Amino acid sequence: MRIDLHAHSTASDGTDSPAELVAAARAAGVDVLGLTDHDTSTGWAQAAAVAVQTGVSLVRGAEITCAGRPGTLHLLGYLFDPDEDELRREMDLARGDRVPRAAEIVRRLAEAGYPVTMQAVLDQTADAATLGRPHIADALVAAGAFPDRDTAFAEVLYDGSPYYVGHYAVEPARAVRLVRASGGVPVLAHPRARAGVSDELIAQLASAGLAGLEVDHPEHSAADRAHLGGLARDLGLLATGSSDYHGRGKPARLGQERTDPEVFAALVEQARGPVPVLAPARPRA
Ligand code: AMP
Ligand code: ZN
Ligand code: FE
Ligand code: FE
Repeated sequence: MRIDLHAHSTASDGTDSPAELVAAARAAGVDVLGLTDHDTSTGWAQAAAVAVQTGVSLVRGAEITCAGRPGTLHLLGYLFDPDEDELRREMDLARGDRVPRAAEIVRRLAEAGYPVTMQAVLDQTADAATLGRPHIADALVAAGAFPDRDTAFAEVLYDGSPYYVGHYAVEPARAVRLVRASGGVPVLAHPRARAGVSDELIAQLASAGLAGLEVDHPEHSAADRAHLGGLARDLGLLATGSSDYHGRGKPARLGQERTDPEVFAALVEQARGPVPVLAPARPRA
């Protein structure tokens, strides 16, 4: 069983459409795929329509941007009810504020002479997608300013850059509670790939109802994994592993990091809402 519970589509900053993502999971031999676009569930319907035909089980989720100190941290919410008002409102607020935020980043870049306009950024963004720095990177790449997303991030879009602007984001403990309140299962994404995510904060989030930690992630070293695995054991949290696939936007391959089937079963066991894991009509032989 290949279980990969963290992947992005064009509903946020991935480069595969939700349908292409599910097909890519199938091609990569992934049996269970988590669709976790930033601050949105808009990709769910298209992915679901394809998943039932492909032999891939679909775990519908989102990666919720939360306020960090500094910057942001990311909470994966799985199998939550997308119609629950408070959680949806928080994601909508973040998603909405990402538009003026991108405009301000673009304004600063243009003022410094970089060839970018908000229109060029929107041209890189699928309709209704959650707008992010990767779309600004794509516009800069299209204009010939940088060879790829990674270089654009390294040069101008990194956290703390003079061009960096934040956006509205929910407090993480509140996001954990809202995911639980809407029947979902909250897992802290790539804790060691963010500044300011201390063991103390993780313990606080565990008290607030956190279900798991993403231990295996492309940006975690062996030492990170060992430390987080120990912390998950100490706090009684599930230890997941996922690729955080972004299509052509990042080097990670689908299924490159995986979640143990027993851990996945325990995660699904904790879901309380109306959103089931979508099993395929014809499971893979
Ligand atoms: P934002 O949500 O707009 O703050 O942008 C953060 C997103 O940018 C995350 O989803 C990351 O996956 C992506 N990202 C961060 N660093 C890089 C990088 N070096 N190359 C490509 N994408 C990146
Ligand atoms: Zn992303
Ligand atoms: Fe993330
Ligand atoms: Fe992600």
